[in-house]
Amino acid sequence: QAKAEGRGGWVLFDSTMHDRVRDRIDIELALRHALAHDQLRLAYQPIVRMSGARLAGVEALIRWEHPTKGTIAPTKFIPVAEETGLITDLGRWVMREGLRQLAEWRQNDVVADDFWLSINVSPRQLRDPRLSGELAEALVEHGLDGSSVMLEITESVMVDGSQVTDQVMADLRGLGVRLVVDDFGTGFSALGYLRRHPVTGVKIDRAFVGGLGTNPEDEEIVRAVVAMSSALGLSVVAEGVQTQSQRDVLQALGVVYGQGWLWGRPQDPETFARLRRPATIGRGGALARDAEPI
Ligand code: C2E
Ligand code: MG
Ligand code: MG
Ligand code: MG
Repeated sequence: QAKAEGRGGWVLFDSTMHDRVRDRIDIELALRHALAHDQLRLAYQPIVRMSGARLAGVEALIRWEHPTKGTIAPTKFIPVAEETGLITDLGRWVMREGLRQLAEWRQNDVVADDFWLSINVSPRQLRDPRLSGELAEALVEHGLDGSSVMLEITESVMVDGSQVTDQVMADLRGLGVRLVVDDFGTGFSALGYLRRHPVTGVKIDRAFVGGLGTNPEDEEIVRAVVAMSSALGLSVVAEGVQTQSQRDVLQALGVVYGQGWLWGRPQDPETFARLRRPATIGRGGALARDAEPI
C-alpha cells in the first residue's frame, strides 16, 4: 500500500521537479568535492563605524571557485547545503578559516584589536549542540577572544522556538560571542523575540536602506528599528549602503555601523589587507570602492 502511494507520489513529479531534485543531488556531490578539494574561499566585506569612517569589522562571505563554472555565489548553494545537512561541515570550514584569517591579520597589524569578524550561521548550525564547543576550540587555537566574533543569525531562528537552539545561543553568548539578527525586518519576528533571545544586535536589511532619501516609509522603519534597539541595548548595522546620501540619512537617524558598496565590496583577503592599512579609511571609502569585487 505504502509503495503504491509512493509511486502515486512520483507521478505527481513533473519533469521540472525531477530536474530540480537531480540538480540538488548534483550540487550536493559537487559541494562535497569542493570542500575536500579546496575550492571554497572567503571574501571579506568591511563594516565601518560611520562617524569617523573607522573600520570596525568585516563580514566573511563564502565563494565557491568552481574549476569550470567560475565563481558561484552563496545564494546558489547555501540553501542546498542547509537542506542536505552539508552546512555543518561547510559552516565548520567557514568558522575555522575565518578565525585563522583574523588571527593572521591581528598578528600583522592589518586590523585593530577591537576589530571583529562576522560569520553567517544557518539555522541548522544553531540546532547543533556541538557548535559552541567547536567555536571555543577554534578560538583557543588561534588565541582569539569570543568578543572578536559576531555570528549573524536569521530571524527565523528566533521564531522557530527550538529549545536546542536556545541552549546553543546561550552557550555561544557564554563564550562572549555576539549574536546579531541578519536581514532584520524581512522575516516575521517581533520586538518580543529580540527580548526573549540573547541577541546583541541587528543588521537592517538592505531593502530598507535602498529607499532612504526617497522613500519616507523606509526612513520610518529605520527610525523605529533604531528606537527599539536603543531601548533594548542592541547594536545596529545598516547593510547595503551604496550612496553618500543613504549614509547621511542613516547617521542622522542614529545608526552607528554601516556596510555596503559605499565602503567596499566583498574582497579577497589579500586585497583587503593591502587596502586596509591604516585602519582608518577615507570618508567616501574610495580606496575600497575601487577594489575588484568578488
Ligand atoms: P548576507 O549575510 O545578508 O550578506 C550580505 C549580502 O549582500 C552579500 O551577498 C553581499 O555581497 C551583498 N552586499 C553587500 N553590500 C551590498 C550593497 O551595497 N549592495 C548590494 N546590492 N549588495 C550588497 P553574497 O555574498 O552573495 O551572500 C548572500 C548571502 O549568502 C548572505 O547574505 C548570507 O545569507 C549567505 N552566506 C554567505 N556566506 C555564508 C556563509 O559562510 N554561511 C552561511 N550560512 N551563509 C552565507
Ligand atoms: Mg550576513
Ligand atoms: Mg545580511
Ligand atoms: Mg542580506
